[in-house]
Amino acid sequence: MEYQKIINTIFDEVKQLKDKGNIADYIPELAKVNANKFGIALIDNEQNIYKTGDANEHFSIQSISKVLSTALIFSKIGNELWKRVGFEPSGNSFNSLVQLEYENGIPRNPFINAGALVIADLMLEHFENPKEYFLTFIRELAENNTINYNEKVAQSERENGYRNAALVNFIKSFNNIKNHPDDVLDFYFYQCSIEMSCEDLAKLFQVFANNGIVPKSKFQFLTTSQCKRINALMQMCGFYDQAGEFTFKVGLPGKSGVGGGVVAIFPNYYTVAVWSPKLNKKGNSYYGLETLERLTTITEASIF
Ligand code: GLU
Repeated sequence: MEYQKIINTIFDEVKQLKDKGNIADYIPELAKVNANKFGIALIDNEQNIYKTGDANEHFSIQSISKVLSTALIFSKIGNELWKRVGFEPSGNSFNSLVQLEYENGIPRNPFINAGALVIADLMLEHFENPKEYFLTFIRELAENNTINYNEKVAQSERENGYRNAALVNFIKSFNNIKNHPDDVLDFYFYQCSIEMSCEDLAKLFQVFANNGIVPKSKFQFLTTSQCKRINALMQMCGFYDQAGEFTFKVGLPGKSGVGGGVVAIFPNYYTVAVWSPKLNKKGNSYYGLETLERLTTITEASIF
């Protein structure tokens, strides 16, 4: 497959689109990013890298980090995880509180904020130095030691994170948070503020496209069954209230973040990451989704 040619064509086409959405400004530090950035990186199953635009510039991965923290804790504690968090799409906004009251503080899935906060709590419970462990894990899988978190972004979230503070306290009232809410929030803001490039992200997510095995080292990070479950979660819950539409139009498991990053995987074929900070009304990268829809249309291949 001529992936380089395909992504170049898509890049030129998508760049011309008029309705480009708006950059996220509810985290003030994110609003400072140049809204016109646009990059694509695709890695095939032989680990050839195809990229264009700003594919090597670091950006805030935000909610994409939720896939990584969930996978890490799943690999550590196995199916015990599902006692603390569910695996159903939420149908509510990513930072919603409402459903928690009816389901006794068990968040619907690990990719809404409520679920990610429970995962953050589990990270504190199961790792002595969770931040260090998390970052080392990411650097190893992406093969890039320059990946780091951004203190300014984390601080900006801390100063404005009233909704997340409400969520963690509310869940704690149901006894589904074991640590101090401030410590849970601290880890959560840290993971969201991690920055990397499209190329790093595509490399990192190869493990999910490869049955849970890191392609280079052959390390079995997740069992086949665990990998299936993480991919299923991405398919069902990866794109906020637009996960259905993403499945409908793109047909790949993936995850987006309010920093404008989108990553998707085609098991046994490729991983692809796109970054463009302008978001559509549902909070997903406008160019990101346009790019991926064109990718599976032109290549005539999706998991369906
Ligand atoms: N740190 C962001 C928040 O909690 C993550 C949002 C996202 O990317 O969905 O609001």
